[in-house]
Amino acid sequence: MKLARNIIIALILGALVGIGMNMWAEDIFPKVDQYFFSPLGTIFLSLIKMLVVPLVFFSIILGTANIGDPKKLGRIGIKTIVFFLLTTAIAIILAIGLASIIQPGNIGQFETTGLEYKADKAPPISETFLSIIPTNPIQAMVEGNMLQIIFFAVFVGIAISYLGSKANTLLKVINQGNEVMMTLVNIVMKFAPYGTFGLLASAIGKQGLGAIKAMGLYMIVVILALILHMIIVYGTAISLLSRRNPVQFFKDFFPAMTVAFSTSSSSATLPVSMEIAQKKMGIPKAISSFVQPLGATVNMDGTAIMQGVATIFIAQVFNVDLTFGQLVTVVIIAVLASVGTAAVPGAGLIMLAMVLQSVGLPVEGIALIIGIDRLLDMARTAVNTTGDITCAAYITESEKRKGENFEDSNSNEEDSF
Ligand code: ASP
Repeated sequence: MKLARNIIIALILGALVGIGMNMWAEDIFPKVDQYFFSPLGTIFLSLIKMLVVPLVFFSIILGTANIGDPKKLGRIGIKTIVFFLLTTAIAIILAIGLASIIQPGNIGQFETTGLEYKADKAPPISETFLSIIPTNPIQAMVEGNMLQIIFFAVFVGIAISYLGSKANTLLKVINQGNEVMMTLVNIVMKFAPYGTFGLLASAIGKQGLGAIKAMGLYMIVVILALILHMIIVYGTAISLLSRRNPVQFFKDFFPAMTVAFSTSSSSATLPVSMEIAQKKMGIPKAISSFVQPLGATVNMDGTAIMQGVATIFIAQVFNVDLTFGQLVTVVIIAVLASVGTAAVPGAGLIMLAMVLQSVGLPVEGIALIIGIDRLLDMARTAVNTTGDITCAAYITESEKRKGENFEDSNSNEEDSF
């Protein structure tokens, strides 16, 4: 809790310093940023990213091996995917609904002549799905390709559980490797307040408030949709499906949200969110290890919300009336796009191009929102991460009701931090 409080203080201080420097010390900001803010942020980001690949690899093997029974694994897998897809679809529908009612693109003046945006690098959806199977798992790890790492780790986990006692030593090694990573998360998190301060001061100092003013209503709609999604969709899922108190739930998970907010990366947040899920929220290791890395990679409700609002906003600015059929297309493509979005800062914007193209909207419209996207990225990443833990809690409860018991192999070991 002390750490969470320090992170919040750092968030607020970073934002204030960023705003202050942008307003009154613009000339010295680049130097201060280069030698102070950015290095602080980079050190923290690198420290935490350093843990992601080994942690995901070890924990998914453990999770799969602990679940053991392929039938059970399949059932959990299907429930997880259905939960992810459903909540993402609801998120976009909510976003489209709010943007259609509030009409951020019809209020205010938006200059559309001379807008430029180069839509590149959005990989075709089919490619995302086909490339899940790694031809070289080591390369997947080197490149940090999460879906490929997950795929390989699930297979290794299945093989280990199939081999039973013959693979005991390996399982022990992997278990200890996982513990080492979790311990490192605790150590690295001690630096979180400083990193958070640097990341915020740098992002907000660069951003300034000018762009925010022009895009105020668009930002309000996105943030409102994010908040409503958290309260209504996650709140309902937490209390009805997981039988937990949503307020306590959000409170427990809050430190992970602040890390997501400051890093704008679901994948960088993963070590922290898994640690909190397993040590503080009573999510069995087997479920947390399986659901959260998968969710960080494919479940992005916050990103989908931004894409929904942005699509309607751009349609309004360019005076395009979208038909009902086109709106349905937006929902489907945005679900797929959020699955294909990499869990790194700004990736959602790249995938937005694909959503716009699917209904013939001008991709140049992205130039309007690009200026403030960095700020919204922070908020949507916090929602992305919360969606994953909400699913993990739901799976935990529904498996418990089935009478499943997840023995955590080290549940009686004390957390040393
Ligand atoms: N930054 C987001 C994430 O990592 C992805 C995005 O929407 O750009 O979850």
